[in-house]
Amino acid sequence: MSGSTSGHGARRRLYPEQITSAYTQPNAQAGAPPLPSSAGYPPNAAPSQITQAPQFFVPGEAPAAPVPNPGHQRSPASPGYAAQDPMASLSNQFGNMGFSGAHNAGAASALLAGPPEIWTLEQPLPPVVLPPQTAATPHYVPCDGKHMRSTLNCVPNSASLLKKSKLLFGITFTPFKTDDEGESPLPVVHDIVRCRRCRTYLNPYVRFTDGGYKWLCNLCNLKNEVPAFFDYDAYQQVPVDRFQRPELSHSVVEYVAPAQYMSRPPQPPVYVFIIDVSHDAVKNGSIGVMAQAILESLDRIPNTDGRAMVCFITVDSALHFYSLTPEGTEPQMLVVPDLDDPFLPYPNQLLVNLSECRPAIDALLSRLGEMFLGTTATGFALGPALQSAKRLIQHIGGKIIVCHSALPNIKAGALKNREDVKAAGTAKESDLLKPADPFYSSFIQQVLGLQITVDFFVFASGYVDLASLAPLARTSGGSIYMYPGFLSTRPEDVNQVMSEMKRFLSRDNGWEAVFRIRASPGIRFPAYYGHHFLRSTDLLALPNVSPDHCYAADVALENDLAGPVAFFQSALLYTSSNGERRIRVATLALPIVSQVRDLFRGIDQVAVAALLAKKAADRVLSAKLEDARKAVEFKTVDMLNVDRAELGLINGTLGQIPVPRSLNLLPLLTLGILKGDALRSATGVHHPSDLRTAALAQVLTLPPEILQTYLLAKFYPLHELSPEAGLPSDQAPNLTQLPPPLNLSSEKLARHGVFLLYSVTEQYVWMGRDAHPNLLRDLFSVGSYNELTSGPLRLPQLDTDISRRVHAILARLAALTRHAFAPTLQLVKEDAPAQLRSQFHAHLVEDKNMNMMSYQQFLGFIREKMQ
Ligand SMILES: [Zn+2]
Repeated sequence: MSGSTSGHGARRRLYPEQITSAYTQPNAQAGAPPLPSSAGYPPNAAPSQITQAPQFFVPGEAPAAPVPNPGHQRSPASPGYAAQDPMASLSNQFGNMGFSGAHNAGAASALLAGPPEIWTLEQPLPPVVLPPQTAATPHYVPCDGKHMRSTLNCVPNSASLLKKSKLLFGITFTPFKTDDEGESPLPVVHDIVRCRRCRTYLNPYVRFTDGGYKWLCNLCNLKNEVPAFFDYDAYQQVPVDRFQRPELSHSVVEYVAPAQYMSRPPQPPVYVFIIDVSHDAVKNGSIGVMAQAILESLDRIPNTDGRAMVCFITVDSALHFYSLTPEGTEPQMLVVPDLDDPFLPYPNQLLVNLSECRPAIDALLSRLGEMFLGTTATGFALGPALQSAKRLIQHIGGKIIVCHSALPNIKAGALKNREDVKAAGTAKESDLLKPADPFYSSFIQQVLGLQITVDFFVFASGYVDLASLAPLARTSGGSIYMYPGFLSTRPEDVNQVMSEMKRFLSRDNGWEAVFRIRASPGIRFPAYYGHHFLRSTDLLALPNVSPDHCYAADVALENDLAGPVAFFQSALLYTSSNGERRIRVATLALPIVSQVRDLFRGIDQVAVAALLAKKAADRVLSAKLEDARKAVEFKTVDMLNVDRAELGLINGTLGQIPVPRSLNLLPLLTLGILKGDALRSATGVHHPSDLRTAALAQVLTLPPEILQTYLLAKFYPLHELSPEAGLPSDQAPNLTQLPPPLNLSSEKLARHGVFLLYSVTEQYVWMGRDAHPNLLRDLFSVGSYNELTSGPLRLPQLDTDISRRVHAILARLAALTRHAFAPTLQLVKEDAPAQLRSQFHAHLVEDKNMNMMSYQQFLGFIREKMQ
């Protein structure tokens, strides 16, 4: 993968308009120069294209052909790479055209039999259809699903209807979502108008009465006075059209909160870094990399008003504090060996203003990597370090960021290595996911209410008992970043940490936040999921709210709902990094329906799967893994096992499962949940409990639009990209178009192919041994398959069409997660080491793998359970 790009830059290669078959053109010589007419990438060698089953099922047509045996495709000699599967390309076109009919009202049922219609995942969400004039102004902007998203885009009018439908009803929220690329910032409102009785914020769905002098609350129907300032802009001193006011024209707005929303002056951003400097951390080089990442992020920490504060504590068998002063550029290290009751030397010089003490901070971070090179200390006293950090910031609040490689093993909070390889698949495996030591749960109790969040960056090569530590992040709104087997000598490992740490420190945070959701009478929220602490029945405490974190709530109906529309309003009260108290309010309106048929038409199956996964992850933390898996299977079968007559579903022939169109991907999504790192059954295969704990945190916090790809990876053939893939879209020139995704099946792998697989926290390029030399040259700048080695891959930026497009696709995929994750790209050659291949194949969830069912077997299981 070295190779020079010279020669490519000199003259731009001509490519055909239809790049679809560019790397697989038949009847051409290997290595031949591109012809102007086809400018192609002729087939390389004698080929092995397997016959693929049809990609989609047309109701009324014969069922799909039996699916060939899954498994890694190694069979030789079948006739010609040229034999492109016409059905596959047709389905791709349909996928591009949004023509699969998933939301086509005329096609109410799908017959599950052949491969799942995975490309329908890319389709827009089912639309919310409200009665006319539900909103006060027709020009309002409805709530984007990235802020608040319901599993149903309508609300059943009674608990009995919801029960009869067996559907999962819940809402997901990403209350502090940052703006996506190309998105306009949220409108800011300075005057707050709320309902006198239910405290709902005025929103696009209120109604004006009494000649415009009163407004009718859309949640509780109380008539409220319209305040005098409402039609007048006090800042510009001009009358305004009230319907242009942001809170009436936008479903998501930010209010600047007045003094009564503060119980104390807004806190400054506070970052305390606890850095493990024991032998494990020295060995893997994480200290220097963390220090460098922090150093390079100092200018990006949100600090516009110069109030941000930082503190550094390094830990091995002793605690080391650093006295930082505005005058000094020589930070003084203060060692505290007494870990039973560690005192804080010079407390005023430990937690310091970032701007004022910058020279000293720079000096410390520049040196930190070398300071402990000679250490042989194997102790890691995390507990005492946490207690000291708490004492330093308990009067302010803030973030405690723990960067460690070792298992906390001495003094308070010392943990033991309890990992048990033999526990895989047994009840004991679930016990390993529960905390072992009471220190951390007691620490949580101490910091609740102090506005302290704990985040983890874990660099371990061995066991660190993350299950005992994770509750700190879970309860305080923190995050967990995992770098198993990290080595600073591997540039790819360093790149990932640098990139994710910089994003983590530079992103905006909401400080000392609380979150509440209100809804129309009769609707309540019996359970919440995500990294938070439930302060009262409906108030979520989020000491620090991350823009990357999503929360979910179950929705229950207490009595019959009146009216044609139900409303949900979320409010996040937080302190911004520049010290403003703000309230972000989002209002969602959903029509109320009285028929099971209407409910099914409104299913958002990605949101359903997200809620299902979050409920399962939550259950693992209190019950057995097996119970959580069973619950997911049960609910999936339950939802699919609808009253077919009620829905007017057509009956399938033997072996098919007639289901509503809106649930056509539920079995696949469920399989993604069951086979993911969080819930995977580990019978016979050891699945480290630390990795499972980190995966549970991902499932609990990722918003549905990202969780979807975490559960079902995006899988693209780079050797036959669709014509528009990797190019800007006509509608949104800033957005790169993604290719239609392939089914997650190893049958799609072809020996002449090169594929990209992206799953949010992992990304791979798979390469067959007969991949075309021209593709290898244009994408990797190498002459042959043998010049590349499996493992971390740095994809060169080449002046070729395919290279530009693939880089554009990778950039777009990173933007989908708002750059929160920067996984290393791994090259998996057809003959890669077994472990790397199995990591890759674990994402092909339609296969029978990891001793778990294939998609077809899972359909059989569902059929059996439905009878
Ligand atoms: Zn009200």
